[in-house]
Amino acid sequence: MATGMEAEWSRVLGRLRSEFDDNIFNSWFKPLALVNIEDGCAVMATPTRFMRNWLESNFGERIRCAWQAENSSVSDINFVVLSGSVRENSERAEDVPALPLKAQKPEIITVKTSEFGAPLDPRFTFESFVVGKSNELAYAAARRVAENKEVHFNPLFLHSGVGLGKTHLMHAIAWANREKFPERRVVYLSAEQFMYQFITSIRYKDTMSFKQKFRSVDLLMIDDLQFIANKQSTQEEFFHTFNTLIDHSRQVVISADRSPTNMEGIEERIRSRLGWGLVADIHPTEYELRLGILQQKANKVPEVEISLSVLEFLARRITSNVRELEGALNRMIAHATLIGREVTLEMTQEVLQDLLRANVRRVNIDEIQRRVADYFNIRLSDLLSSRRARAVARPRQVAMYLSKQLTAKSLPVIGRKFGGRDHTTVMHAVKRIDELRLTDSVLEEDIQHLERIFGT
Ligand code: ADP
Ligand code: MG
Repeated sequence: MATGMEAEWSRVLGRLRSEFDDNIFNSWFKPLALVNIEDGCAVMATPTRFMRNWLESNFGERIRCAWQAENSSVSDINFVVLSGSVRENSERAEDVPALPLKAQKPEIITVKTSEFGAPLDPRFTFESFVVGKSNELAYAAARRVAENKEVHFNPLFLHSGVGLGKTHLMHAIAWANREKFPERRVVYLSAEQFMYQFITSIRYKDTMSFKQKFRSVDLLMIDDLQFIANKQSTQEEFFHTFNTLIDHSRQVVISADRSPTNMEGIEERIRSRLGWGLVADIHPTEYELRLGILQQKANKVPEVEISLSVLEFLARRITSNVRELEGALNRMIAHATLIGREVTLEMTQEVLQDLLRANVRRVNIDEIQRRVADYFNIRLSDLLSSRRARAVARPRQVAMYLSKQLTAKSLPVIGRKFGGRDHTTVMHAVKRIDELRLTDSVLEEDIQHLERIFGT
């Protein structure tokens, strides 16, 4: 392919990236590959037929405009599906050389919760879940849901940053509930899959059976709900399903990467209902928990010798999330297997160089604002507003204070990030919190807790 064409393509992607939020960009545009430009038509490849249809009907015009803006001779666009068995437009697809299409996630081959739920990972059980301070509430709530038919809190809403065990807990609920009450209909799926099934049912004019199947379950779990933000019709349908189930005392479990109050792009009435049951957040891991997780995982491979000091080192240094922690351990296990002797601390430092460097944690002001709002249970919009009520003014000062302490940003930049405030306001907040930390023990505890969240 001509290199000029590649450069144009990356500029088109750049335009799309700036137009859409990351979530949408990564889900829909990133997997695209440019095939060719022929007779004024830009041909792009998608990995699945569903993606092609969705792109065409929802983003086709935007993509065409982005192309036109970069190359005025492009007046049309077309998508081909390129992946294993699903090949359409095959004459075109055939003369295309191997494309750098992102490999799709490998499906885990296990039992599904039902004909329309997603597969469950057999490793994700309560037995393999290590409990610590940061996740004990979520764990206890999950167990309660799994072991009871009666509904105690509905919905159970789990939220946390990535890689902290939400999906693990949901699968664990499904396994345990199924074992205890085999007759119950338990369904687990991601919000993305929910949307996919909904859209498909519309396409095949089969929304009745879509509604029926979802409304007949005893326990419905939807993972990563933030995915349906800004997707009006899917939200609407989700809301109806959700209400019907709750009205009939069927258990609903939801997960998301933020609290219900801060789910932007989700309608207010839905947001508020999401918070009616129990909202449990999983905090970033503490050292003891990380060590516990490492020990549990290391015990599962007794043939490999990894000393306690190596595990302690990893627990101290890899603080981002459990997924990375597991990744680090797996690498050390692989290494130990290769060299056939016990791994030392020096080897660990050597092998994990990149990971260790990446784990010098960097937080940004946006994240501080969101976490502080979640922590004090106020809206992000209130935190940034000019409201002076104590209930929002104090958290705002805390967020300013943490922004000063934990980022390298200057006072004026921080002020701007907080609804265009003056740098003196930030300075005042920093001073005030510094003073209060010495006298107000509750606030001091809050701040220590938040600092722990940010890994300091
Ligand atoms: P999330 O859905 O919150 O992004 P996952 O549930 O996918 O996170 O967890 C990421 C990985 O970390 C999984 O392999 C999971 O088994 C593991 N993990 C997370 N928390 C724990 C825990 N408390 N004990 C054991 N493993 C955990
Ligand atoms: Mg998950």
